[in-house]
Amino acid sequence: MESFDYTLCLPFVPGFSENLKRELQKQGIRVAFRKGQTLESLLCRLKFREPITKSKNNIYKRNCKTCNFTYIGETSQYQECRDRGHRDAIKAGDSNNSFFDHLQKNPSHEIDWGKIAYLDKERNTDRRMIKESLYIKAFDEGNLMNLKSPRPINPVWMEFIPHIRKSTKL
Ligand SMILES: [Zn+2]
Repeated sequence: MESFDYTLCLPFVPGFSENLKRELQKQGIRVAFRKGQTLESLLCRLKFREPITKSKNNIYKRNCKTCNFTYIGETSQYQECRDRGHRDAIKAGDSNNSFFDHLQKNPSHEIDWGKIAYLDKERNTDRRMIKESLYIKAFDEGNLMNLKSPRPINPVWMEFIPHIRKSTKL
């Protein structure tokens, strides 16, 4: 007989919830499903009240202007600080920087600094990392500039990928 410390009450998503329940039960967490509420019905587009450059804790996507390569990143910093960091790294020739790496391999290319796609916002660092990994997995079509592999995530999250693709307008 398994014993549980507490119960997690979640909306039900067919195909996902069964696996999540199994995984959480292994960790001693009981799961109950709410009726009449799906995760999709809870998903909503983020509205940015603050100017985009002044917002922080973002998961974002920035493209090359010249080719279809793209970068997906997360930051706890204000976006304008993070962007400045990337530009400084390019100037300094920082080979650990994904944008610098792309430009070094493709000297005639230009990064589109004027346009950015905001994918998500998350204050909690661990959750932001998980989300970054999910977005990378959702949008990686072999055209990512990202030098670092995303943080490994529990495979149960992979069930979310089609939902992320569907609900993210770029
Ligand atoms: Zn390019």
